[in-house]
Amino acid sequence: MKFPIRKEVEKFSPYEAGLSIDEIKQKNNLAHVIKLASNENPLGTSQSVIKTLKEKAHLAFRYPQSGNPRLAQAIAQKHNVDIKRIALGNGLDEVIDGLIRVLATSGVNNIVAFDPCFGIYTTQAHLCGVELRQVPLNKDFSFNLGELYKKIDRNTSIVFLTNPDNPSGYTITKEEIYNFALKIPKSTLLVVDEAYIDFADKEFCSEELIHNIENIAILRTFSKCYGLAGMRIGYGIFPEEVADYMGRIRLPFSISILGEEVALCALKDKDFYNKTVKVTKSGREYLTKEFKALSIDVASSQSNFILISLKTAELAKGLYTYLLEHGIIVRSLTSYKLPNSLRISIGLEEENNLLIKHTKEFLQWQNHL
Ligand SMILES: *Cc1c(COP(=O)(O)O)cnc(C)c1O
Repeated sequence: MKFPIRKEVEKFSPYEAGLSIDEIKQKNNLAHVIKLASNENPLGTSQSVIKTLKEKAHLAFRYPQSGNPRLAQAIAQKHNVDIKRIALGNGLDEVIDGLIRVLATSGVNNIVAFDPCFGIYTTQAHLCGVELRQVPLNKDFSFNLGELYKKIDRNTSIVFLTNPDNPSGYTITKEEIYNFALKIPKSTLLVVDEAYIDFADKEFCSEELIHNIENIAILRTFSKCYGLAGMRIGYGIFPEEVADYMGRIRLPFSISILGEEVALCALKDKDFYNKTVKVTKSGREYLTKEFKALSIDVASSQSNFILISLKTAELAKGLYTYLLEHGIIVRSLTSYKLPNSLRISIGLEEENNLLIKHTKEFLQWQNHL
């Protein structure tokens, strides 16, 4: 080894994303492939966003306005908070990264989260050399908040709760979050990652708590319900002091000029948003019912995906492979240490129908072996 690679970095392996459509088309010689692996919007890109991209294309040569004040203002207005509390990022991933850098000192602080948790909490904590304390989820993917609480001490700077949770879709109510927030030290920030909250019923949303609890933050993204995963825009609402420091360390132009424009456009496009929620909820209900009818376990979900569990890891792998060969990409959860399970994003009606059709075929074929 020639270069002095940091020891935290040596252990990293590349992020394992869901497979891409082109990859699978080529490999299995398929004309049409359905991707239900990355919780993207099944309706695709909204027409208003496409129009905005065309109209604003001529701005590509410009740097965006530093700090993206127009977008921050629109978000502050949406949530009825001071603009000073908003931290923006190139995807919510960047916001999470910035937060950890600001609040967690290596060798001093620790971060608390469930296991499994969203991968970015883990990787960015490791990158910062910060201790990550994890508590296993219950067998049914529910949260053991009592055990989580026991891991917290004076040096805990961040507690992450993903609500709805990824990859299970499990969700706790605002009341449960409120009661938990009251118990933890005032210097510990409770961070509620609400990437999927748009798909959940109202009683699960913690937004209101940002007005009356000083050490809570909520995280949101334009990648899921707003259908802008490829544009990379996310944000959080933080205590002002935290948001201030996050603004200072953020790379100056991390949200692109077109990213800012489409986010502003998406916030106004209520029709697309409402349609997305509607398609997702009805698809979720349909898929949950159909998988259960096939005696496949489905975790109760408030999100735009469901987690199904098969009797064995072999069966899960079999179904995963069978679906791939028939042009449907779902998410394997071996990297989450859940080899019996698959995570499936809710698709359009016809996509969901095809998914169930091929699952039935797979099960019949299994029974004939
Ligand atoms: C998708 C997701 C994010 C990050 O989204 P970005 O695309 O980076 O905005 C954050 N948290 C959870 C739990 C997610 O599933």
